[in-house]
Amino acid sequence: MRLDVPTLFLMTAAVTFLVGVLFLLSWNQSQKESALKIWGIAHLLGSCASCLLALRGQIPDAVSIGFANALMIGAYGLIWSGVRAFERRRPLVGWAVAGGLLWGAACLVPDFYASLPARVILASAIAGLYCALGARAVWQGRSEPLVSRYPAVFLLAAYAGIYWVRIPLAFTLPTPPLRPTFESPWFAALCFTGTLFSVAIAFVFMALTKERAEHEQRLAAETDALTGIANRRAFVDRAGHRLAAGPATLLLFDLDHFKAINDDYGHSIGDAVLAAFCHATLPMLPRRAVFGRLGGEEFACLLPEACTVAAARIAEAVRGAVGRIAPPDYPDLRISVSVGIAATGQGGGLDDLLRRADTALYGAKHAGRDQVMVERAAVDLAAQRVLRRSGSRFATGAPG
Ligand code: GH3
Ligand code: MG
Ligand code: MG
Repeated sequence: MRLDVPTLFLMTAAVTFLVGVLFLLSWNQSQKESALKIWGIAHLLGSCASCLLALRGQIPDAVSIGFANALMIGAYGLIWSGVRAFERRRPLVGWAVAGGLLWGAACLVPDFYASLPARVILASAIAGLYCALGARAVWQGRSEPLVSRYPAVFLLAAYAGIYWVRIPLAFTLPTPPLRPTFESPWFAALCFTGTLFSVAIAFVFMALTKERAEHEQRLAAETDALTGIANRRAFVDRAGHRLAAGPATLLLFDLDHFKAINDDYGHSIGDAVLAAFCHATLPMLPRRAVFGRLGGEEFACLLPEACTVAAARIAEAVRGAVGRIAPPDYPDLRISVSVGIAATGQGGGLDDLLRRADTALYGAKHAGRDQVMVERAAVDLAAQRVLRRSGSRFATGAPG
């Protein structure tokens, strides 16, 4: 099969142009993801470069070789820049453009310009470097769990490899004539992989952007806007899963006299107290705990073991930390929390556990607030002794 190289170049230009326009249209929809704009411009530059390369022999070499390759290298630089923008890092557009400028400056040196191997080596080294940097930047951002990251890394790294393989080949293959014709298999291979790369990278970048948007939407739907922790729906969902996996203990927190805090200091200070409560509580909870805001000034934490003694110790640590919250502008503001604890054991799901922990919480409120109360049924005699020894504020048994 013979591939007509100018046609291939024009096809690459058309496909890359379309991809560039799609990126820009997508960016225009929300203008939130600036990477889409950078990738769009990169593809439009790549499309221009392909057009100029296709016109080789019909326009001055300085344009079809020097300028076209500078544009192509710049396009790869912008792909890398776009990846950095996607990863919420500075896009470093100056560095992205520097590669094309370096190429342009080298072309002004007659000996370099006259040597095809030298040109192949420099262009491949820079374009490959940008692709490799892009792959590295996507890899470095993997703490954000997006599945499309991995094909993106593979694609960019593979393309860097394809470019870099040309470097030793430029040394070893017989040197073609100074002005190689379009018969050269190099051109066909370059065009073919260029088109594939444009299409594949467009799919992968679009998938990355879509995945991130979905991830952020899911997160927003599951997060309580005021405190940043799981909202009731997310808590019920996650706690339900955890409960299905085995025994667990539930801690129910309710801030004491919170209505009075609102009345005395204002609703915004009340809001700040809710956020401060979460800030003080989170470091006290084990990593595997499921923590969420059930609503108002009520919070819940599910611990993945049915150990009320350990749960009561954690609750007491939270109670202590909350008591130490001291807003600097409001020295008179005292914050305290009551905690009710219940554990699985007698069957029943999350609703049953919440109901029993609520009964224990009611007991804590009834006994004077600012204390931890464990459901009587969840505490055997040995545990009761441990709890009593741990501190006077522990109480066992909710009022019947
Ligand atoms: P107790 O010690 O018995 O728990 O008394 P309390 O005042 O804490 O309980 P109550 O249920 O009477 O009052 C809860 C208050 O919490 C009433 C409501 O206005 C307030 N509240 C609910 N959600 C928010 C919120 O998001 N921000 C603020 N600032 N207040 C809230
Ligand atoms: Mg309440
Ligand atoms: Mg309350």
